[in-house]
Amino acid sequence: MLTRPYKPVFVLEILFLPEKIMDCPRCGSLNYRKDGFVKSRQRYECKECRYHYTIEKKSDVKSAETRRMALEMYLEGVGFRAIGRLLKISYGTVYVWVRE
Ligand SMILES: [Zn+2]
Repeated sequence: MLTRPYKPVFVLEILFLPEKIMDCPRCGSLNYRKDGFVKSRQRYECKECRYHYTIEKKSDVKSAETRRMALEMYLEGVGFRAIGRLLKISYGTVYVWVRE
């Protein structure tokens, strides 16, 4: 009975996530204009502070999240191989992330 209303909320959060990423990373303004592409990413220019920035693709956002989780697990004492297995990434990748 209580589980039903939660699902639409969760979906909405995901749909709105790209909007959040679009604010200027420098001043947080949403007053931007499109300014071409850099390495196949849409580039934006902030009209407030003239800062140029690009929007991270979904896969980058996902890997950033995976990376954060890998680091948390490492700090909890989980081994590289176990982290790799749990997050479905190679333990070599985990090792590189943790070392940085
Ligand atoms: Zn700005």
